[in-house]
Amino acid sequence: MNQNIERISRILINNNIKPSFQRIKILEYLLENKKHPTVDEIYVSLHPEIPTLSKTTIYNTLNLFLESGIVRALNIESSESRYDPITDQHGHFKCDHCGSVYDFPVNFENIKSNKFLEGYEVKEKDVILKGICKHCKEN
Ligand SMILES: [Zn+2]
Ligand SMILES: [Zn+2]
Repeated sequence: MNQNIERISRILINNNIKPSFQRIKILEYLLENKKHPTVDEIYVSLHPEIPTLSKTTIYNTLNLFLESGIVRALNIESSESRYDPITDQHGHFKCDHCGSVYDFPVNFENIKSNKFLEGYEVKEKDVILKGICKHCKEN
């Protein structure tokens, strides 16, 4: 096994998920393509390499990852879910023109001192911005 596969298997095992070949490939894809893919995009990219992979398997695997907190779902548009491996805190910028979703660093520290939120338990932090990205503006 190469190092990457071994590292990904360990993430799955640590989260009590049996590291099947397909699960490893799906998590590897999410970690290596930080572009917040949809189920369809994952399917189109992995299917040539894994012909036995179905959209249902991808969908079920992502739900398993969601329950374990390995990934989070981004519902920027109600019509599609995108998936993001959980790493550091960051915000998202969705370009209305090219459809890309970019990560950018966000400091959530001042949320802790926000008076309104005293006594509230925060479970998820997200910042979503929409507009036209730099690359589209230049063209
Ligand atoms: Zn764009
Ligand atoms: Zn992200």
